[in-house]
Amino acid sequence: MIDTLLFDLDNTLLDFDKAEANAITRALGDVGISATNEMRDCYHKINLAQWKLLEQGKMTREEVKMRRFKLLFQEFDIKVSPQEVAKHYQDYLGQGHYFIEGAEEVLQELSKRFRIYLVTNGTLSVQRGRLKSSGIEKYLQGVFISEEIGYNKPSIEYFEKCFSKIPDFKKENTAIIGDSLSSDIQGGINAGIKTIWFHRAQDLTEDPQPKPDYEINSLKSLLKMLK
Ligand SMILES: [Mg+2]
Repeated sequence: MIDTLLFDLDNTLLDFDKAEANAITRALGDVGISATNEMRDCYHKINLAQWKLLEQGKMTREEVKMRRFKLLFQEFDIKVSPQEVAKHYQDYLGQGHYFIEGAEEVLQELSKRFRIYLVTNGTLSVQRGRLKSSGIEKYLQGVFISEEIGYNKPSIEYFEKCFSKIPDFKKENTAIIGDSLSSDIQGGINAGIKTIWFHRAQDLTEDPQPKPDYEINSLKSLLKMLK
C-alpha cells in the first residue's frame, strides 16, 4: 500500500519550460539582446543536453550553468559575457512560478492521504525561490534538492540519502512521479520504488525507456490512480 510519494518539481508540478523561456528572454534583454524564438528553442535544447550530462555524472553543476550560455553565444555569434547573463538568468528563474495544470489541487488532495516529498535536480537558490513563490511547501513533508543532498537523480546515492531522511521509510510503500525517463523513472528503478511517468502529449513515445510501472498524462488522473 503506497503511503509516500516523491514528486519531481520541474515540468511535473511547475512549468519549467515556460519559466526558462521567460528567464532567458529577460536575461538577454538585460545585455541589449532581443531574444528570438530561434534563440529560445536553441537554448532549450542546449540546456536539456547539459542537464543530461549532469545526470550521467559527466558534467558538474557549475559547468552546466556556464556552458549552456557559451554554446548559445557561439551558435548565434553573440559577444557578451556568459557570466553576466548566467547570473541574471539564475535570478529570473528563481522568481515567480507557473503551475502545471492541476498541480495545486492534486497536491492539496493527496497531502490528506499521503506523505509527499519533493525530489529535484534543480539549483538550490532557484528551487527555493520558486517553491516559496508557489506556496506548495505546506503540502510537503520535505524537500530534497540535489545540490544540498550532494548527489543527483538518477543515482542510487541520491535516493538513499533522501530515504534516510524519511521517517519509517519503506521502499515498497513509495512511488516517484516525474516527467523525466532518464532521471525520475531511471532513478526510481535504481532505488527499487514504484515509478509513475507523467508525460504531456508532446513527450509521448510508444515505447518509453526505461519502462515506468504506470503512465499518466494529467496530474489529476493521479487522484483516481491512488484512490
Ligand atoms: Mg522534471
